[in-house]
Amino acid sequence: MTLALHGGTPVRSAPWPAWPPPLDAAQRALVTEVLESGLWGATQGGSAVTDLVAAFARRSGVPYGVAVGNATLGLFAALRGLGVGRGDEVIVPAYTFVASATAVLLAGATPVIADVNPVDLHLSPEAVEAALTSRTAAIMPVHLAGSPADMDPLNALAARHGLVVVEDAAQAHGATYKGRPVGGLGDAGVYSFQASKAMTAGEGGLIVCRDEATYEAIWSVCNLGRKRGGQWYGHPTIGWNLRLTEIQAALLLPWLDRLDAEIDHRESFCTAAEHALTAQPWKPHDGEPVGAGPAGGSEGTGAGSGVRDGESADVGSASDRGSVGVRPACGGGPSDVRLPYGRELPVSVVPQPPGTTRDSRHLLMLRLHMPVDREFLLAAMVAEGVPLDAGYPPLGTFAALAREGARAEPCPAAEAAAQEVVWVRQSMLMDDPRHAVHLAEALSKVLAAMPPRAQA
Ligand SMILES: *Cc1c(COP(=O)(O)O)cnc(C)c1O
Repeated sequence: MTLALHGGTPVRSAPWPAWPPPLDAAQRALVTEVLESGLWGATQGGSAVTDLVAAFARRSGVPYGVAVGNATLGLFAALRGLGVGRGDEVIVPAYTFVASATAVLLAGATPVIADVNPVDLHLSPEAVEAALTSRTAAIMPVHLAGSPADMDPLNALAARHGLVVVEDAAQAHGATYKGRPVGGLGDAGVYSFQASKAMTAGEGGLIVCRDEATYEAIWSVCNLGRKRGGQWYGHPTIGWNLRLTEIQAALLLPWLDRLDAEIDHRESFCTAAEHALTAQPWKPHDGEPVGAGPAGGSEGTGAGSGVRDGESADVGSASDRGSVGVRPACGGGPSDVRLPYGRELPVSVVPQPPGTTRDSRHLLMLRLHMPVDREFLLAAMVAEGVPLDAGYPPLGTFAALAREGARAEPCPAAEAAAQEVVWVRQSMLMDDPRHAVHLAEALSKVLAAMPPRAQA
């Protein structure tokens, strides 16, 4: 089959659903009400921000919340409100959006970049332990792609060492860990409403927390150092105006009523995608089907099960896997690069961390188990009508962070992920789950035509 990149017929020509989804009637009504009221700002007495904050805190299982202009500022405000600042180190995962680290810089503290678990790609407690110094003040677990970080070991570690825990829940509205909502598991949790996120007002953010004094402090950071209930022009501490508008809150408040249905939809798509990847008759370069060989073929699937599917048996060390192009061939002889995947599927879904009870499915992360020329893969998938995201470079590779004093620990798992992991975007997960086969078909077609990376 000729690749669409080379003039062939694309696997899919229909567009994927747009993000954000169209306004619903409740959003339209509330936004109109707010616009016509003239109460657009959060200090004019309108109720949308207050209601949004209360609803989010309730959903997060905690009493308090503060709405902010975006999650970068929210992470900053949470750290500052919790007393983290100059001279302090904050441990962040190596596989995350850059804002996790730049928020630490904004607070005047030093980001320390620690590796992720090689299987689920969430912050590794062992790596955190190894990165501790006498200056460590906080840990920032990220609920990556909508699945919760394994919080119990991280919280236990933080308690042992007297550290603050700020959850970066920017991607995980509605996710739960052992039945408990993310955001309410640490000292503070921060959601994002930026345009790409599972709930959006174009921009926006929200901090939730359990402790009253923490709430007062964070509120003050976000409100120019005022004291709640105190004088308007009294500023006992230093703070800034970081507030969300009523107009943004009016877009978000009604969204909470459909969030769970949207998560369920994306979950169905992800389950269908995992089944499609398993059922796909993968063909190696020489055209012989693989995946059901004597070594067990498509072992370990179970969509959304949180099971570390087959990877624990085969993953070896992530650093081995990171050096793409030298991965031992499984199906053929030791130097057989034409049959790179006899024992397992060439593509698998990155499993959820232990303890996941609800994954909000912000992104579906896929790991490629064969050496690929990533640029070719990504371009070819776009041409097939099934665009994938390249995902994050490891934070430790950003020179700009290093120039600001960020320290990177060894991060072989994040480096491997940067080579092997690609993402299916949230908007695509909102499509009809029956179309998840397009993903498997396009990947199969492109991987079969993939030039060996060694020659790329
Ligand atoms: C989007 C995102 C942020 C930043 O959120 P903004 O609202 O854009 O500032 C922080 N961390 C993670 C993991 C994100 O995905």
